[in-house]
Amino acid sequence: MTERVQVLVVGAGLGGLSASLFLAQAGVDVLTVERHAGTSVHSRAAGQNWRTMELFHWAGIDREVLAVSQRASQGLRITVATSLAGRVLHRIIEDGSEFDVSASTTLPAGMAGQDVVEPILLAHAEKAGARVRFRTELVELAPDGDGVTATLRHRDSGEETVVRADYVVAADGGRSGVRARLGIGTTGMDALSHCLGVVFDADLGDRVQAGVTDLFYLQHPEFTAGLVNTDTPDRYVFAPDYFPEKGESPADFTPERLVAMIRTATDLPDLEPEIVWTGSWEVAARLADRFRDGRVFLVGDAAKVTPPTGGMGGNTAVGDAADIAWKLAAVLRGEAGPALLDTYEAERRPIARMVIDTSLHNMKQRMHPGLDVSGITPAEDPLGILLGFRYRSTAVLSEEPDDGARVEDVHAPTGRPGFRAPGLESTLDLLGRSWVLLCAGDAAAWTPAAAAAGIDCHAVEDAVFASRYGLSRGGASLVRPDGIVAWRAPEPVEDPGAELQRVLDAVLSR
Ligand SMILES: Cc1cc2nc3c(=O)[nH]c(=O)nc-3n(C[C@H](O)[C@H](O)[C@H](O)COP(=O)(O)OP(=O)(O)OC[C@H]3O[C@@H](n4cnc5c(N)ncnc54)[C@H](O)[C@@H]3O)c2cc1C
Repeated sequence: MTERVQVLVVGAGLGGLSASLFLAQAGVDVLTVERHAGTSVHSRAAGQNWRTMELFHWAGIDREVLAVSQRASQGLRITVATSLAGRVLHRIIEDGSEFDVSASTTLPAGMAGQDVVEPILLAHAEKAGARVRFRTELVELAPDGDGVTATLRHRDSGEETVVRADYVVAADGGRSGVRARLGIGTTGMDALSHCLGVVFDADLGDRVQAGVTDLFYLQHPEFTAGLVNTDTPDRYVFAPDYFPEKGESPADFTPERLVAMIRTATDLPDLEPEIVWTGSWEVAARLADRFRDGRVFLVGDAAKVTPPTGGMGGNTAVGDAADIAWKLAAVLRGEAGPALLDTYEAERRPIARMVIDTSLHNMKQRMHPGLDVSGITPAEDPLGILLGFRYRSTAVLSEEPDDGARVEDVHAPTGRPGFRAPGLESTLDLLGRSWVLLCAGDAAAWTPAAAAAGIDCHAVEDAVFASRYGLSRGGASLVRPDGIVAWRAPEPVEDPGAELQRVLDAVLSR
């Protein structure tokens, strides 16, 4: 018998679980399948930037994520050095206080690892009604004009079942089988480096600063490696590069050799580290040529893989999920035309490009001075990628003239369409769940128009709001369910009802 579902999500990593949560909370019937037996055991993407925390706040999970961010409270330090007690070559981030983003958001960033965030996403996705099946693999996918037929196989019993979905979200990681099946190519660079991931337990004393994320890029004469603490006390990740071109493979790194390397890296010759997990991966920078094929959408690493330098891979997976989720929900509810779904790629692919290019520049600065990044342009402002990014698509009515910038200064957000609605105490909890019209001071003229259009309308009194959102009294800003400004009327308009209807029809592709 064929099972019916509105959206099938393939993969329960950060991207897939975020998509499941956001879709389920938007009332979509969602089934998620994951070939592994459970969520990630490796802390990999340690760090939730402010945008991710905003999305998590609206999903009701930010407090739980902060509670498992043991290291978050006191900040972040990033150091390039020869070893933990060796020569400091470059202090990239002193303590995190250099990130004053208070003009753009009131929320803190998180520092939790993927291993502790994924269970939170999973629990809340299930609570919201998502079905998540582990040890279940997608083995076949047949899209057609009306939906997608997928064959799933249970990895223990071998039993195969067929699911019919209206749409598929492929969050199946960097080696996305769905992407390959659909014939979507990728462009970029492979094998920028090859890394081992070694999770170990040891008491490193004051070599590493407690209470902060203390990330080291080690350029030792014998090796290059990353080393970072985790949310678990006395647990660290050591990530040395290895070189296949010199005939090396992960198998060469015996436990004895790893212990010796950890002793060298930490300058603790008598250390007895206990190795609890090892893995390996290839650092690559690859962007999918398309993010969509008919009813199938690529999310997270399936859409792009980026070097980890900058900590943006996992965060953009969450951002992708938020973008596609509200759009699928709107189309499935019949509130939007199917062309709204074209805006997913239009909005998220340029962000992925910027993330990859900026991470490559970071990689050259922190780990691989010889990396050739000529012709690759990083973001004008690295904080801008996180909070000042800009969407250009038909789901936004841009204001003319467009200055052409990809990001705006997070210290002076403008509230222009296509950018994040600046996060203020007064607006935070009005946003992020549905369409909302925020009116400067006086909402009287807009309230009936919003009611007729079926959207929430609020008057916000404070002067900071009006200036950050670029509104005069009686003006209004229309904010999408993902907290992006779709349109604004800086001044009062003559016929708010007609104006709002025209705008919503346009941005929802109706
Ligand atoms: C060492 C390291 C450090 C990193 N540090 C950071 C960081 O600090 N910040 C950051 O933002 N990002 C970081 N990243 C990147 C981050 O881990 C990834 O970007 C993130 O995991 C992407 O999530 P995803 O859901 O797209 O893919 P994944 O987490 O890879 O999940 C894909 C899932 O799909 C499943 N799957 C695949 N095929 C199938 C199938 N056919 N059927 C069912 N299931 C399937 C897989 O088993 C997997 O669980 C780091 C990555 C690494 C390796």
